Amino acid sequence: MPLVTTRQLLDEAAKGGYGVGAFNVNDMEQIQAIMEAAKETNSPVIIQASRGARKYAQDNYLYHLMLAAAELYPQIPLAMHLDHGNSFETCESAIKLGFTSVMMDGSLKPDGKTPATFEENVAVTKQVVDYAHERGVSVEGEIGVLGGIEDGHGAGGSGLDHVTDPDQAVEFAELTGVDSLAIAIGTSHGAYKFTKKPDGSVLKMDLLIKIHQRLPNTHLVMHGSSSVPKELQDVINQYGGKLKETWGVPVEEIQLGVKNGVRKINVDTDNRLAITGAIRKVFAESPEKFDPRDYLTPARAAMQKVVAQRMTQFGQAGHASDYTAISIADMAKGYKSGALVTKPLVAAK
Ligand SMILES: [Zn+2]
Repeated sequence: MPLVTTRQLLDEAAKGGYGVGAFNVNDMEQIQAIMEAAKETNSPVIIQASRGARKYAQDNYLYHLMLAAAELYPQIPLAMHLDHGNSFETCESAIKLGFTSVMMDGSLKPDGKTPATFEENVAVTKQVVDYAHERGVSVEGEIGVLGGIEDGHGAGGSGLDHVTDPDQAVEFAELTGVDSLAIAIGTSHGAYKFTKKPDGSVLKMDLLIKIHQRLPNTHLVMHGSSSVPKELQDVINQYGGKLKETWGVPVEEIQLGVKNGVRKINVDTDNRLAITGAIRKVFAESPEKFDPRDYLTPARAAMQKVVAQRMTQFGQAGHASDYTAISIADMAKGYKSGALVTKPLVAAK
């Protein structure tokens, strides 16, 4: 299937009442792992690349790997998404390259570290929305600030420092016309999210539900939503790693989110853990090996297993053939004519 937009994927997910995993990539093996998992579970899928990934792999490599994925798996709806764009220029360059969806994270200033004001966030996000929609590309915004740092992007600190205010979320969605909205409910980027299994005092699912009640038709996005399972940490530590004990977002909390408007779930850390554990195992058990395929093959298989598991848990499994692709040109027409509604439905308090 040609690359589709996240707007189409998430509209379909809302109709079907499921969530779609958005998995980060930096290289060919990760893209292959995701696509094989999508094939295995018959899932639509979002592949996303951060600024760090674009720098690591270079835009043209990434883009052509995605095109190869679309060619090789014509039955799978696949969106190519920019994760955490830090400025209009970053989003513009991604759209020019062929990304079908971008995140403008205006919750931070362009340095990717300092929290921005509400007005600054609205202004830059609206600028990206106008540019993107004219070209049929979807936009994700962020209101509130995630905790932690990933790929050099993030305010650091606890996920509770700048949780999303529901009134601001409503105002932000109305002023910008974003297709989807990332909210801060206590989660953080990276492996070290929580120091114990999170309860309602640190993971604010009640706040998520409140935002969904106010914005019932807006696709919500959960960032920093790896589950960081103990089994994956254990493999790494068993073969010489030194991870400190840590907790992620339990899958059942994500499933509660999916029942309450969450349509996109970002997962990166779990895949990194799976890859590293598999490689460490080969190095520890077969130190004589030196062909990269000897450790990249099990690494890719370990990531595929985690991705397939998440696809099943988020509910996207089985939904790849529910619909056909809407072209980017037709998406642009839809935005222009108003057929693709960008004004959110706002419920009274
Ligand atoms: Zn994020």
